[in-house]
Amino acid sequence: MAKIVFENVTKKFGKVIAVDDFNLTIDDGEFLSLVGPSGCGKSTTLNLLAGLEDATNGIIYIDGEVANIIPPGERDIAMVFQSYALYPHMDVFNNISFGLMARKVEKAEIDKKVKEAARILEIEDLMKRKPRELSGGQRQRVALGRALVRDPKVFLLDEPLSNLDAKLRIQMRAELRLLFKRLKRTVVYVTHDQAEALTLSDRLVIMKDGQIQQIGKPDEVYDFPANVFVAGFLGSPAMNFIKSRLDVEGGRSFIKAPGLKIELTNNQRSKIDKVASSEELTIGIRPEDILVNRNECDMSCGIELIENMGSGSIVYFNIGDERVLATTERIHTNEKECAIGFNLEKIHVFDKKTEVAAF
Ligand code: ATP
Repeated sequence: MAKIVFENVTKKFGKVIAVDDFNLTIDDGEFLSLVGPSGCGKSTTLNLLAGLEDATNGIIYIDGEVANIIPPGERDIAMVFQSYALYPHMDVFNNISFGLMARKVEKAEIDKKVKEAARILEIEDLMKRKPRELSGGQRQRVALGRALVRDPKVFLLDEPLSNLDAKLRIQMRAELRLLFKRLKRTVVYVTHDQAEALTLSDRLVIMKDGQIQQIGKPDEVYDFPANVFVAGFLGSPAMNFIKSRLDVEGGRSFIKAPGLKIELTNNQRSKIDKVASSEELTIGIRPEDILVNRNECDMSCGIELIENMGSGSIVYFNIGDERVLATTERIHTNEKECAIGFNLEKIHVFDKKTEVAAF
């Protein structure tokens, strides 16, 4: 069992508040990602859990015990870093087994554990190689193997895939997901890569400036972002944002922007009323939720650029003064304009000033 609770945890470095009143419960066996841009406090949160940093305020519980007073070595946590931190002069077997040997575990037991980890990670053929004789992905698996043989309560992974090339990252991402699904261990995973966080995690914590912006399952945070920051951070290409205003005509409510007029349902209007600080709103629409050249398209827009990517196209439009991107199946056209429409069920509306989502 390894349930983790952060209760009002703050970490200050001088005047910098790296982690600001952090509250989170991580369930036993959960794969949870901390995701956000550089400097948002992800690694500091992980280091607090590992005991590599002391909290300025607040309590961290691991399995109901106050972890703040437990030395790092006794927290039963294994960490894997971006840099792998393998011993260059040792072969793979010794790299994986080093921690067990240091703890004077019996040789037969060590052999069994290393074999099992090597089997899971498919590195059985590499046992005699030195780290320099391995690819990045193989080194990463050795670093994971070293964590696996310790059989810890909790795995902490800090950007473990960032040194790999794009193709290998995607492959290792799937391998990690499958591995930890099988192991059913509590994992806290730090990444700045939203795609990694969305694909790997049971839940994500999206952070900015040391503060939690939203906690949720991948579909929840993608489909119902709590604010403009989360909406813009998750998804690639990013969500489009359009400055707009709430307007009432003859008892009907509309959101209007240059070149755009969307009628609101009563339900949408009441959601806006709950968060709006003025008539000024921001519309959010994901590139995949813009329809291009379909029967239901009712807006004519200037085409700025079409990027063809093999699997599809990214079309850059102008709506009023705003640049808007749409992802479509691959299109080739010399037309200067085309018809577009928004999938109105997928539209998001935020208060312009507070950036909080109405829906
Ligand atoms: P990155 O993705 O770049 O690693 P991060 O989200 O992991 O970023 P942290 O490394 O946790 O962010 O840093 C959070 C904030 O705390 C940053 O402003 C950083 O400069 C600051 N910080 C981190 N460690 C220290 C330290 N030892 N001394 C002073 N400031 C620090």
